[in-house]
Amino acid sequence: MREILVAGNWKMNGSTAAGEALVDGIIAGVPEGSGFRLLVCPPFPYLASIATKISGSKVSLGAQNVSEHASGAFTGETASAMLKDVGCEYVIVGHSERRAIYGETSEQVAAKFQAAQAAGLIPILCVGETLDEREAGTTQNVIDEQLNAVLNAAGVDVFAAAIIAYEPVWAIGTGKTATPEEAQDVHRHIRARVAERNSDLAEKVQILYGGSMKGDNAPGLLSMPDIDGGLIGGASLKANDFLAIAEAAAQI
Ligand code: PEP
Repeated sequence: MREILVAGNWKMNGSTAAGEALVDGIIAGVPEGSGFRLLVCPPFPYLASIATKISGSKVSLGAQNVSEHASGAFTGETASAMLKDVGCEYVIVGHSERRAIYGETSEQVAAKFQAAQAAGLIPILCVGETLDEREAGTTQNVIDEQLNAVLNAAGVDVFAAAIIAYEPVWAIGTGKTATPEEAQDVHRHIRARVAERNSDLAEKVQILYGGSMKGDNAPGLLSMPDIDGGLIGGASLKANDFLAIAEAAAQI
């Protein structure tokens, strides 16, 4: 049985006070039970203070992006070792907003993935198709290209210490959600692609769903056999909304 991860991507939202209040609310309401884990990914300036807040709780800390470089003259960038230094365990790489707005290529995402692992962080690799790609019937090709960039650069064994997030771009922040069956189809495909290279590992790797996950659709999505949690944007910004998803995870 794979553990369920409920991960909140706060994106570029909040303030010191708002972030601390949000995490206080989450910690106060963590559901009873085991078999699930909670993660928050605040903006960079708040990582250190949130790290202090979550210490000793059931909530872990992650960042939303990382440099592919280890150190040096890269103005404005943040190295994996720095994230580790302030208490991060996880980092999101290849979010569709990074790919679409900042032009990150799959090769660059693979380099970030490897840099994160080299520093002892668990990368959460985001993959997903746009609406045009889905309508053109190329969803699996898009996912394969994004996944293969990591598999070809780093091999399959790196997924022993990594997470994959399937995030259909058309469902992110739109209120549209993939149905549990639509999501399951892609999750099954991703797991099969990993299994072609290492079947034991494919059974263990966590594959999260992201795209307008909320308390009301989480039970259906999380009950699918290949969906092992959620990467949540909008609904991670209010403690009660995030906890409703955590409750669904605790019931699985
Ligand atoms: C995301 O940006 O990763 C995301 C899934 O956002 P939302 O939940 O708002 O769709």
